[in-house]
Amino acid sequence: MEIKKKEIWFTLSKDVYISFNSPEKLLLYNTSNGKFLVVTNSKCIELINKVYEPSNLGVVDIETIELDSNILDFLDKATSSGIGLTTKKSVCPNKPINLLPILNLQNDIEKLKLNGKEHLMGHYIADYLTSLNIFITTDCKQNCEYCDSYFKQTLFCTKSTEQQYIKIETLQKIFSQSASTNVNKINILGGNIMLYPQWDMLIDLLKKQSFDFHLWINLVNITDYSFFTNIPFHKEILVNCPVDIERLKKIISFAETQNDVTFNFIIENENVYEGVVNLIDEYKHLKYKLIPFYNGSNIDFFKTNVFMEESDILSDLIEMRIIFRNQKLNANFFGQLTFLVDGQVRANMNTLPIGYFPDKSILELTYEELIQNTIWRKVRDGDTCTTCMYRFLCPPPGNLETVLDKQNLCHIKP
Ligand code: SF4
Ligand code: SF4
Repeated sequence: MEIKKKEIWFTLSKDVYISFNSPEKLLLYNTSNGKFLVVTNSKCIELINKVYEPSNLGVVDIETIELDSNILDFLDKATSSGIGLTTKKSVCPNKPINLLPILNLQNDIEKLKLNGKEHLMGHYIADYLTSLNIFITTDCKQNCEYCDSYFKQTLFCTKSTEQQYIKIETLQKIFSQSASTNVNKINILGGNIMLYPQWDMLIDLLKKQSFDFHLWINLVNITDYSFFTNIPFHKEILVNCPVDIERLKKIISFAETQNDVTFNFIIENENVYEGVVNLIDEYKHLKYKLIPFYNGSNIDFFKTNVFMEESDILSDLIEMRIIFRNQKLNANFFGQLTFLVDGQVRANMNTLPIGYFPDKSILELTYEELIQNTIWRKVRDGDTCTTCMYRFLCPPPGNLETVLDKQNLCHIKP
């Protein structure tokens, strides 16, 4: 075998991400083909670390390494999976250089912070903001059991006893300030948004904008089917238990042929899951999402169906840019702001307000979140995730982690 001759240069492919989060267990993940190696042997770990020593410039002379069966086995597996690369010294007598990828995102927030608020308030800020959620009214005549919980786990309607709504003038200001940002999608939520007191003016105002509006309406609030289907924007139908099956089927029959309706099903247990899946199976063109919901007493459902296994994390190819992104920001929430009827603006419904609109402009609120970091840049953290080799391959933490007060919603022992 060539490797036994020792006269080779060894390096790692530029496509390989190495997780050093667990010092005794390295993960080498090939982002071009999804192949990976878990390395626990101390001599192999030493060899990998040598590749990263600045003086080695990404390449190790195997003649300087004491070869044993573990190293040979590692070199074999690494080269056959495209993770490691070898070059014969007879072909390349002079030591090559291999500049390995190192995290270095342009416009890094920390660098921008050093340049001060004035610099940050420029066009960079506008680029970061990509979508808005606007709760326009707290009014709703229904009494859903988990009205005060759904919205903390997913985009969902919620009401309050004190009925309030955002004035049309305030919405106008939000839209005109957002026009100079990267905002594309705007979610409009309530309460029951169809109880908004200036409904016709609202629809006229939305029609004049160039944003992609999604209007969120609970199934229980849809009684006038033709009124509902004539709303000229994308409609997101919220479906929580108990489900009025007849009403749902009727709406589906209206919606199936339209591509501007999405159903968002709250799933609390296996029975609900099976019921929903059996129902939607009949409608091949339906757009829908299944959203697991923690109701305080269904943790076993989550452990069985939602908590991740290793195979879930590694089932799809994970690109290098995704891994780098997961080290810097939270893709679940980055770029989003949520406006509440009382003027509060939050980056997430589980975090504290970052300010009030219109007291602060949208650019100022974006700046506040970038600096305060209530959620946009929260990456996988906590004792377990920090030492886990999947830390940045794993999807970023979402609302469930906050609601369950547990960072590692998985069955993996680091
Ligand atoms: S329809 Fe929505 S806002 Fe109304 S009670 Fe139910 S969850 Fe709350
Ligand atoms: S949730 Fe945390 S502990 Fe579990 S796989 Fe992801 S990073 Fe590792």
